[in-house]
Amino acid sequence: MNPYVEEVYDDVLKRDPNEPEFHQAVHEVLESISLAVDKHPEYQETRLLERLVEPERQIIFRVPWVDDNGEVQVNRGYRVEFNSALGPYKGGLRFHKSVNRNIIKFLGFEQIFKNALTAQGIGGGKGGSDFDPHGRSDTEIMRFCQQFMTELYRHIGEQTDVPAGDIGVGGREIGYLFGMYKRLTNRFESGVLTGKSLNWGGSLVRTEATGYGTVLFAQSMLDVKGETLDGKRVVVSGSGNVSIYAVEKAQQLGADVVTVSDSSGWVLDEDGIDVELLKQIKEVERGRIKEYADRKKGVKFFSGSRPWEVPCDIALPCATQNELNDKDAKRLIENGVKAVSEGANMPSTPDAVDMFQEADVLFGPGKAANAGGVATSALEMEQNASRASWSFEKAEGRLTEIMKNIHDDAYATSEEYGRPGDYVLGANITGFERVATAMLEQGIV
Ligand code: NDP
Repeated sequence: MNPYVEEVYDDVLKRDPNEPEFHQAVHEVLESISLAVDKHPEYQETRLLERLVEPERQIIFRVPWVDDNGEVQVNRGYRVEFNSALGPYKGGLRFHKSVNRNIIKFLGFEQIFKNALTAQGIGGGKGGSDFDPHGRSDTEIMRFCQQFMTELYRHIGEQTDVPAGDIGVGGREIGYLFGMYKRLTNRFESGVLTGKSLNWGGSLVRTEATGYGTVLFAQSMLDVKGETLDGKRVVVSGSGNVSIYAVEKAQQLGADVVTVSDSSGWVLDEDGIDVELLKQIKEVERGRIKEYADRKKGVKFFSGSRPWEVPCDIALPCATQNELNDKDAKRLIENGVKAVSEGANMPSTPDAVDMFQEADVLFGPGKAANAGGVATSALEMEQNASRASWSFEKAEGRLTEIMKNIHDDAYATSEEYGRPGDYVLGANITGFERVATAMLEQGIV
């Protein structure tokens, strides 16, 4: 590794020692941009990497709220505004019990490069809370979102910082958050949040975008090898927003998808996942994945583990970070996996990524493969700014074009640096160089 890059990484470890996921995300990026840093002494002269790994602003706040039993609950809210070199901060809000500053920083850091890859003029940020929505009533969710926004509203705006959804935050939560933002500011500022309802400023295809994009990225990787998704056996983890639409798009392209999961376990459906039943259980009833097995004949439920033992051609990890480790990778490789496209953020551990690459498995890292969500959020902002509503076909067409460009740009960079098909290196250097150029041009800020 370039000595300047190493020095920066050592400083990150010393400065914030208790942030393992953030370290993991920073290490992955720094390691793969090392070759690009060799060519640019001006990065070191302007301390560009030190600035890149330090968020521009971090906001941590108390979120007190009252549950249905009249008990006061206190959660912690976060917004990390990481980098605005390319545009307003943009990135989702995650509501999950595991959320802390480390998790939000890792997600915010990834978001910088992902957003740069989309080439849509958006900076990187992320936020959320350790609030656990599981088992909470609709009114509790509403009260929590409203209380969360009573602080967040000071920091966001359509030209400043534009949050969206992530784990635990979907259309319902965005609605409650937007309602409170509007009440507090007395402004109907459509572009302040994305993932809105289609009734008041949302974009068609935003719901589907991340999952669709992940599959389109897999398709582009297969194209390079002269293959298609048609007839391929696909294993998906998770059963939330990203997973459901990854299943849908993979099936549209002729693949056989045989698994989905949630934090309690996974189901194996050899007849192919019934995506309408999955939507009914997960989107409408907000139920557990076991119910899928209870309601469809011949489906098996396995508790407490993940689906990576199932032989497949394509693996789509779409649940959460570090959900696919070296043992899982070994199993997948032994079973003949051809491609892995990450719908989730950083779902594969570093060892697993190394193993896929050594085994010549096509590997699409999350920051490229799941960029379709934020890309379509930027399309939602574009529609809001011009007070337009595009057709499904137009929005999907733009998403398809953007995903193809992300793939092709990452591939071209991997070739330029002598490692054709290394999408980790290609995506990281492509995103980094766009951000670095803007940071140099904007001076020491
Ligand atoms: P959802 O909340 O809709 O779904 C998350 C799914 O993952 C659920 O099935 C959930 O199960 C499961 N899951 C979450 N945490 C864990 C865990 N610790 N162990 C096992 N399973 C878990 O979230 P999304 O689908 O929106 O997000 C999934 C991933 O995709 C995340 O990594 C997110 O950052 C990433 N992503 C999302 C984008 C979007 O547009 N939504 C954009 C880009 C990336 P359970 O219900 O049991 O918790």
